[in-house]
Amino acid sequence: MSAITATPIRGLSDGQRDFQAAIRDFAERECGTAELRERLTEGYAELHNQEIYEKLAELGWLGVAIDERWGGAGGGMVDACIFLEETMRGLVPIAGYGVSLIVAGAYERFGTDAQKEEILGAICRGRVEAIAMSEPEAGSDVGSLSCRAVRSNGDYVLNGQKTWISAAHIADHILVVARSDDSGSKHDGLTMVSVPADADGIEIRGIQTLGGKEVNDVFLTDCRIPAERVLGAAGGGWMQLMAGLNVERLILAASALGIAQRAFDDVLAYIKERKQFGRPIGSFQVLRHRIADLATELESTRLLVYDVARKVDDDPDRMLPREASMAKLKATELAKRVALDGMQMMGGYGYASEYDMERHVRATLVMSIYGGTNEIQREIVSKTYGL
Ligand SMILES: Cc1cc2nc3c(=O)[nH]c(=O)nc-3n(C[C@H](O)[C@H](O)[C@H](O)COP(=O)(O)OP(=O)(O)OC[C@H]3O[C@@H](n4cnc5c(N)ncnc54)[C@H](O)[C@@H]3O)c2cc1C
Repeated sequence: MSAITATPIRGLSDGQRDFQAAIRDFAERECGTAELRERLTEGYAELHNQEIYEKLAELGWLGVAIDERWGGAGGGMVDACIFLEETMRGLVPIAGYGVSLIVAGAYERFGTDAQKEEILGAICRGRVEAIAMSEPEAGSDVGSLSCRAVRSNGDYVLNGQKTWISAAHIADHILVVARSDDSGSKHDGLTMVSVPADADGIEIRGIQTLGGKEVNDVFLTDCRIPAERVLGAAGGGWMQLMAGLNVERLILAASALGIAQRAFDDVLAYIKERKQFGRPIGSFQVLRHRIADLATELESTRLLVYDVARKVDDDPDRMLPREASMAKLKATELAKRVALDGMQMMGGYGYASEYDMERHVRATLVMSIYGGTNEIQREIVSKTYGL
């Protein structure tokens, strides 16, 4: 693997620095060569390797930000960001983790003890959980979703289609956001229901994408789920989604930062080696300056992401619409830029599958779309300035 060039994160405890070093060692040992990564991903077709995921669970790392009562390590968002950044940088194929962590946040905030034990305990042990908000006609305007959850004899009966659901094909449950009451505004009457992925009346179908096997359509047809599987308040789904936005945006930002750093490290190593006109291409000023610009962007983005993580840890209940959206916007735009600039700086070899850069491009292009598009993040940021 190419050398790590990131400046150490300011203000980490000794324990957090050791944690970061241990993840780097793990990634190097388990995923540090193209041969290892090809094997773990079945020739880059799979984005999630359950064996690696369970190894991380055994080390106690999947529960790093989950309360000790439920089997976690009791850390916070800074710890989670370290884990996400380093596993992404190390190209560890655990695509089911980010979305599991988003679900974990919702259970930490709104779950009963029994639900926390079931879902948070399972995540710590290496199980994947998915969340389904988006629908074919409800993307950015997710509040207009129309999937129904109708009360019937102590159960909820779900009907509708969810789309783009990350990791649904490898998840134990899908946390479905459905409309249980349409007498109020579009944001009233939404309910979160945890649907077992093998329930009667659920069908999960993969969607072909540029990124490989990652997202799914989920069809719900008279899918009957006991009311105990409702998370939080019936009808309170919108407020519960809003309460998770800081954490969701940080998860995406830290992941983007990790892949951006990896793309940077890879291209830097390449341009030091590759010679044209009798000298390393990295000695040409145009490439040197590009590297300087990307490095500056990476360092400033890292400061932003970890600053937001610290703010969330200081006060988990405080909404940070401006800061969290800025972190998601900045880190995901940067990841795309580093990967695309990296490809350009590597010439034809950046485009060849022999190198990772073309996969970095594919992985980063979508980051400005999911988790609320970057146009929507800009809308949120500009609103906080009174526009
Ligand atoms: C790989 C991937 C994984 C995903 N994972 C999940 C998941 O696990 N669970 C889940 O529920 N969803 C998931 N999604 C869905 C994702 O959140 C949506 O794709 C996203 O919110 C955008 O919705 P849309 O695709 O319908 O685009 P649209 O909402 O149709 O947007 C199309 C374009 O219009 C722009 N636009 C729309 N409204 C506005 C506006 N008001 N102002 C300015 N511009 C606007 C958008 O920015 C975008 O450029 C995933 C999507 C992808 C691609």
